[in-house]
Amino acid sequence: CGIVGYVGARPALGIVLDGLRRLEYRGYDSAGVAVVGADCLLTEKRAGKLANLEKALAELPIDTAETHIGTGTTAIGHTRWATHGGPTDRNAHPHLSRNGRVAVIHNGIIENFAVLRAELEATGIEFASDTDTECAAHLMEIALAAVHLEQPHLDGPQAMAEAMRRVCRRLEGAFTLLATDAGTPGAVVAARRNSPLVVGRGVDENFLASDVSAFIEHTREAIELGQDQVVLITPEAIEITDFAGAPAAGRDFHIDWDA
Ligand code: GLU
Repeated sequence: CGIVGYVGARPALGIVLDGLRRLEYRGYDSAGVAVVGADCLLTEKRAGKLANLEKALAELPIDTAETHIGTGTTAIGHTRWATHGGPTDRNAHPHLSRNGRVAVIHNGIIENFAVLRAELEATGIEFASDTDTECAAHLMEIALAAVHLEQPHLDGPQAMAEAMRRVCRRLEGAFTLLATDAGTPGAVVAARRNSPLVVGRGVDENFLASDVSAFIEHTREAIELGQDQVVLITPEAIEITDFAGAPAAGRDFHIDWDA
């Protein structure tokens, strides 16, 4: 229901939680976050209010020297309005791929999820949730591995964008999708079809959200993504393509109303 992504120089977790708080008015039944650390990913998710998620996060050793989660500068966050699978902790987003290194959040409905799920289960993947969303996380891991093999010249962020394009070409329905990869700090990739997605352009930092109120306290320069577009954000760049990989542009606008 609400989506936030951040990549920049500042600790990302608090920024994403603040963004989710600003999207609370949309209504939701669960909330979750994923933060990229030092070659690792921390995810936490809880049914119920954001306060439940924050309580769970407060009990985690997020500031250890090994993980660098507390200082991690790449994160995504989600508030869920359940459509497939009840409002439980395990159905809350983010959803992880099998190797635990790709985290995906999603607004909308993936109409062909049953076919995709059956295909993935036939390869031995065990699903951890009842959502339509989880198939996108597994597809991202598989696509990333294929991209690394077939297009080894692409760097980590570019490989994520290409993997997202491959995944989107398989999905039907409505989706705003965001993904992070444990091996690629400093990048969040996103896509949209029949569901809103805006980019906030900062200085050495960039934002993604379902609606500008999530990042309006940080920047007023925004880009509305068009239908069937993929966007890659890094601290320095915002790159938009269509699902086939051709360069594309969103609609730039300035937010001139008060938060
Ligand atoms: N269809 C997804 C689910 O049920 C996403 C729902 C949403 O838009 O929050 O988990």
